[in-house]
Amino acid sequence: MRIDGQSNLEVMGHRIALDTSGSPGQACFVSHAHSDHVSALRNRHRRIIASEETMALAQAEAERAEEMDGLRLSLLPSGHMLGSSQLRVEWDSQSFTYTGDFKLGKSLTSKPAEVKETDSLMIEGTFGDPSFSFPEREEVYEQVAKFVTKQYNSGGIVILGGYTLGKAEELIAVVNKFCGLKPIASDRIAWACGVYSRFGVNLDVAKIGTPEADELMHDNFVAVLPQHQVDFDLAVRLSKQYRKSVYTAVATGWAKSMKFPVDRAFPLSDHSDFAHILAYIEAAKPKRIYCCHGNEERLARELQARGWSARPAAETALGAEEF
Ligand SMILES: [Zn+2]
Repeated sequence: MRIDGQSNLEVMGHRIALDTSGSPGQACFVSHAHSDHVSALRNRHRRIIASEETMALAQAEAERAEEMDGLRLSLLPSGHMLGSSQLRVEWDSQSFTYTGDFKLGKSLTSKPAEVKETDSLMIEGTFGDPSFSFPEREEVYEQVAKFVTKQYNSGGIVILGGYTLGKAEELIAVVNKFCGLKPIASDRIAWACGVYSRFGVNLDVAKIGTPEADELMHDNFVAVLPQHQVDFDLAVRLSKQYRKSVYTAVATGWAKSMKFPVDRAFPLSDHSDFAHILAYIEAAKPKRIYCCHGNEERLARELQARGWSARPAAETALGAEEF
């Protein structure tokens, strides 16, 4: 097998695009529904490998890839968001696993990642640097819930921001479960909550513009919006409009390393921090590791220093020898 430098897995005469757009007729694996991973679904005439949840969230209809001679393909949960999957490919007595975006541990809205031993591993390195370390998820849930409950009970309006797919739904789950409140949400977030609920993750939310949301907004309320819409300007506008105090917060893995124009930034990440990347690798025991999706060079160096055979996945495009 080899990775061709453009994120194609070549094995036993087959070529599988890994979260890239592929070419006509090609089999393409789509790990999850975030926009930077679904290009194969936007191009026609691809044969798609993806979970039902990912297809629903991407609102895609596509030809599905059938059996591939000599390969056993399976999807393992990756813990990143609803439907997010790793691709595991087995042939003869060998195995390859591509994590896609992943995180370890429990969350209110996604299945935990499953880790299996594998000969070759292609792993994402968004936070593949030892400086990234996140608190326990339950702890962050508690921080969010405390913030929401305190400001809401004081008569304030609380606006939470997160990525439309994945994070916003998790914030709604936190507000439902730990604050006992039904937030209002933007159109697309409310729609995504419907898909989550359809796949067994029940979320209680009111779509902005509906009579139910109007009713909730007569008094103080909690709203969950796309992260880029939540800032001090919005807080000022809403405060004037509703004549109430408005409190804003976002939830993101970059909470500690970037500044956000909000009252609070909670370190709630959909990706693994460095310790969890190492924990995954120690459990998977790969003989060779390809690092991808951000920080791959740093991650490869850190892994090499710890005795692992690792390199950035793109390096093979530069003519580097295969492992
Ligand atoms: Zn993602």
